[in-house]
Amino acid sequence: MSTPSPGLRMGRPFGIPVYVSPTWLIVAAFITISFKPQVGDRLPEFSELAQYGIALMFAVLLYVSVLLHELAHCVVAKAYGLPVKRITLYLLGGVSEIEKEPDTPGKEFLVSFAGPMASLGLAGVFFLADRVMDGNSVAGVLVFMLWFSNLIVGIFNLLPGLPLDGGRMLRAGVWKATSSPNSGTVAAAWVGRVLAVALVLSQLILPLMAGQEPDFTTVLWSMVLASFIWIGASQSLRVAKVRSRLPQVRARTLARRALPVTAEVPLAEALRRARETGAGAIVVVDHEGRPTAIVNEAAVNATPEQRRPWVTAGAVARSLEPALVLGADLEGEPLIDAMRGNPAGEYLLVERGGEIYGVLVTADVNKVFTGV
Ligand SMILES: [Zn+2]
Repeated sequence: MSTPSPGLRMGRPFGIPVYVSPTWLIVAAFITISFKPQVGDRLPEFSELAQYGIALMFAVLLYVSVLLHELAHCVVAKAYGLPVKRITLYLLGGVSEIEKEPDTPGKEFLVSFAGPMASLGLAGVFFLADRVMDGNSVAGVLVFMLWFSNLIVGIFNLLPGLPLDGGRMLRAGVWKATSSPNSGTVAAAWVGRVLAVALVLSQLILPLMAGQEPDFTTVLWSMVLASFIWIGASQSLRVAKVRSRLPQVRARTLARRALPVTAEVPLAEALRRARETGAGAIVVVDHEGRPTAIVNEAAVNATPEQRRPWVTAGAVARSLEPALVLGADLEGEPLIDAMRGNPAGEYLLVERGGEIYGVLVTADVNKVFTGV
């Protein structure tokens, strides 16, 4: 499946496509405006316009640093053979799309740790450069702002709550200790939620304790960041919940009994027979009794009652491609993978010998996850 492009494609370092989202322009404008006064303090001899230009340069270089942070994650992931789809730079930083999760807590830890390490490494390099450079030159001002901002990026990402890198490291630790990746997710996601709340509260309470008014812009940005963390943590909790229900998903126990009919049987008659025999699904068979199609519940529901005597069962059935035939013994993740590989409303379940066991209805599987 192809997803829409997340923005402008900038290049392919290490074979990884890098995109910049249009939302980056918002943050670039914000950084430019809020850092311009700092530039002005250090470089008063420059014109206003030049000061804005230097602040914009900082915004660009900061995002180059963020890109290096993301590249560090991706390069380690690739070294472990995990497929990397792309990196996108957007409003709140960067996001690496790694298409498979590491299969051990050790790999998870190192993939997550690589990003903050890169940021702290950059902070160290810029810090050393700052020692030897003239603080009142353009390069000196940029280097100073970069060492400080990379330090903040590195430390912030090490906070131990999902979806931050530190949260993934905590998840790896709990996974290692309990042998359960799911427990790791739940623990790190809850820490993430606590961090989100603490982030906003600290911006309100700390200034008040110091007898100052909280700064409106800082509070606003901490709320944006906190909602990003809260939403990410909640998403992880949902995934963990779904995962914990996976063992309950067994094709055999969810199967509906199938009524076999030939294609020319009127739909109304097929439905009557299904009701009579207590069958939950209708399979179209040829004259030798071999299944050729499954009646689609959505198509049945879309056929008005008074039309049903005039429509054949075959007309509302989806023909059985091999991917719609699943083994009755499938369960858990392999079952979900098989269904995801070929989305459909119904699947035919067969025994090893090929006999029909029943029909698996996707809506029934979804009910297990939603708990309805
Ligand atoms: Zn990261």
